[in-house]
Amino acid sequence: MTRSFLYISLLGAKIHSDHFGIVLSDGWFVHVQQYGYTLDGSTDSKEHSLADSDNTVHKVVIIGSGPSGWTSAIYAARANLDPVVYVGVAKQDPGPILPGGQLMLTTDVENYPGFPDGVAGPEMMMKFEQQARRFGTTVVGQDIVRCDFSTDGSPHTLHTSEGDQVKAHAVIVSTGATANWLGLESEMALATTGGGVSACAVCDGALPAFRDQPLAVIGGGDTALEEATYLSKFGSKVYIIHRRDELRGSKVMQERFLSNENSEVLWNKVVLECLSNPDEHGSEKLYAIRLKDTVTGEESELPVKGMFVAIGHTPATKFLRDSGLEFDDAGYIDLKTRSSKTNIAGVFAAGDVADATYRQAVTAAGMGCQASIDAEHWLGDQGLN
Ligand code: NDP
Repeated sequence: MTRSFLYISLLGAKIHSDHFGIVLSDGWFVHVQQYGYTLDGSTDSKEHSLADSDNTVHKVVIIGSGPSGWTSAIYAARANLDPVVYVGVAKQDPGPILPGGQLMLTTDVENYPGFPDGVAGPEMMMKFEQQARRFGTTVVGQDIVRCDFSTDGSPHTLHTSEGDQVKAHAVIVSTGATANWLGLESEMALATTGGGVSACAVCDGALPAFRDQPLAVIGGGDTALEEATYLSKFGSKVYIIHRRDELRGSKVMQERFLSNENSEVLWNKVVLECLSNPDEHGSEKLYAIRLKDTVTGEESELPVKGMFVAIGHTPATKFLRDSGLEFDDAGYIDLKTRSSKTNIAGVFAAGDVADATYRQAVTAAGMGCQASIDAEHWLGDQGLN
């Protein structure tokens, strides 16, 4: 296994790591182990852009590089469709968004078949990418920022973050989903400056600032329970703050969380404000959150050094808003049938961007496989393969 220095470029700052994870200059911690995997589009292993002067029409362009995107690429490449994957660019919006998707912010994945001892999320994504490349996938380190999908049988046109136009007969959208935030001004201010607010406990929870400190997780679903259980290894006390009197998460995960001596659920509470004061370097750091009881209306202050928001995800479809694609009420791409077909001919969707229900790496990979086979059949029907 290659053991090269891993680096990532985020908001213009070069960040590096020599082992286990990376601490971004603004305080974000990303668990990306050094598998020789490079994450930003400026690495020599990825194309900066595809020549847009030769009027090439690609058979398949895949947007997104999580489990569904790479699986689509593996299948498309093996079907000689010469797929091109736009992996996206690392950014902060307001939390970290990385090529490779949510698994880049995950430590051990224990439920993906074929890895009996578990596998680190970033390592798994590296393996997916290697497999896709092995069969000839082209990888481009840019975002797709707009899509002009055609409805008259002519190729679709995709616009990249560097101003290129890319044409493709078939497009597979695999852009995943990103974490939701409460939307408080104080939350955002601290989240974007490493002040103790995060939407990813497994990314940030092991930071020294959170060790042996009281911590809060907001939300009542499985993500909140999983993150809070993980944090109970580091924090002196871990609170789940839930707006109702009943958790949405599964019983088994509730039991796992509550079996920790340092864990507690605060029921019927919402966060009004994140309270901070400056540290010795003048950076604002969280010291407490102001809560409101949803039943009594009573307000209180809870001293915590970390707040982890775990209130669900939003599909990454903003760039598709005017594309003519149809979405469901929650903003996920609406798949008309069990297949990956969207309402536009030649446009397919796979993974979390089109799945509000399962949202697992293995289901996303399965959907990626479906999308590639659907695209292959569609191209065949059009005489384009
Ligand atoms: P969910 O949608 O299941 O839960 C979101 C939680 O956040 C809910 O409890 C909701 O409250 C709360 N919430 C939403 N908006 C706000 C808000 N503005 N303020 C306060 N609280 C809010 O999302 P999850 O990410 O937890 O789970 C998504 C899916 O992924 C589920 O199917 C889950 O089972 C699965 N999952 C599975 C895991 C596993 O099996 N290992 C791990 C993690 C997730 P309310 O309940 O009142 O609506």
